Amino acid sequence: MKKIIERIVTKPAQPGMVGDGFRVYNFIPRGNVSQRRMSPFLMLDFAAAFNFSPTNQPRGVDVHPHKGFETVTIAYKGSVAHNDSAGNSGVINPGDVQWMTAGAGVLHKEYHETEFAKKGGEFEMVQLWVNLPKKDKSVASHYQAITEDAIGKIILPNNTGIVNVIAGNANGTKGTAETYTNVNLFDIKLNKGGSFTTTVPATHNTALLMVNGSAVINSETAPEHSFVLMKNEGEEITIEATEDAVILLMSGEPINEPIASYGPFVMNTQAEIYEAIEEFQSGKYGELV
Ligand code: MN
Repeated sequence: MKKIIERIVTKPAQPGMVGDGFRVYNFIPRGNVSQRRMSPFLMLDFAAAFNFSPTNQPRGVDVHPHKGFETVTIAYKGSVAHNDSAGNSGVINPGDVQWMTAGAGVLHKEYHETEFAKKGGEFEMVQLWVNLPKKDKSVASHYQAITEDAIGKIILPNNTGIVNVIAGNANGTKGTAETYTNVNLFDIKLNKGGSFTTTVPATHNTALLMVNGSAVINSETAPEHSFVLMKNEGEEITIEATEDAVILLMSGEPINEPIASYGPFVMNTQAEIYEAIEEFQSGKYGELV
């Protein structure tokens, strides 16, 4: 059975700034798409394509903590450099995905990569926060640096497009990321006239972000930069590209546990939030300068 669209959420009139480098349109938890409604997805920030001027001072966001969930960064255009208090560092280049499990707590910084910043240019990115079940919130922080060539791929026939299976399973092709939750995350690139049909479980909270270009989703036109929220019934999704389009499909089995959320901390109770703030303030997440 085909999934029915519940609502198409258009992007806010103005982007918000995360630091000075991430010019983002928020879709979760804005626009009545709550953390509960989209569980296990807690937050979606979409940095729609924007041309940054060259600079010798890379733009970005300075040291900040995360605890209790995972951050997933998908770079489409431009490069992001990161380093964290666990000693990890790296660059997320176009096509790459960083899947960071903050778990018990970490400090990190996220900046435009130095050479990209110097040259300037188009920057396009998504950051998605995925909740952890209670039992996994205290795992030691770690991350998966998933490069473009390592991502499971479905090559669509006759040069009509490609599907990068970041996580989960798309039509039998397994995703690359190891996840604590039952989620699907597909980066779908269709050429004009191309189409792709897939299924996700009816119980999953499911949505599509129209990163670039518009397309027809189960017979309804979704404009560029919109967020298509699906009803939790039916399984089948068909995307027909009326122009070249890039679409991020996410679906996940909801975590039926209380959500206590305060900025970069997402726990189950308010007491755990106070504890997280205290841990952060007392330097328990390590040091990063
Ligand atoms: Mn961060």
